[in-house]
Amino acid sequence: MHELGIVFYIIRDVKKVAEENGVEHVSAVVMDIGEVSTVVPHYLTDCWRWAADKEEMLKGCELRINTIPAMTHCDGCGKDYPTVKYGKKCPHCSGDRTWLLKGNEVEIKEIIV
Ligand SMILES: [Zn+2]
Repeated sequence: MHELGIVFYIIRDVKKVAEENGVEHVSAVVMDIGEVSTVVPHYLTDCWRWAADKEEMLKGCELRINTIPAMTHCDGCGKDYPTVKYGKKCPHCSGDRTWLLKGNEVEIKEIIV
C-alpha cells in the first residue's frame, strides 16, 4: 500500500506552504486524483486521517478528492476518448498509437485554511 507514502508527501508539501504563509492551521486539502492513477481514494483518506491527526497543524484537517476522468488521445485519427472504457485501443479507428492525455495526476489542488 503506497498511499501512506503519498500522504507523507502531501503533508510535507502542505506544511511547507503553510509555514511559508504563516498559517497555523489548515482545515482542508483538495487533491486532484486521476481515474487511472494508482491511488485508491478511500485508502488515501484513511491514511490521511491517521497521519494528519498526528500533526498539530493538520488536526481535523479534511482531505477532499476531485476525481479527474482519464482521457486518451489517438495519433491515428486525432480524436480523444475515455480511457477506462476503451483502454489502449481507439474506439474511432481501432488504432493503437494512443497515449494518456490526462487521468494520471496525483496533485495538491488547493489548501484551505
Ligand atoms: Zn483513432
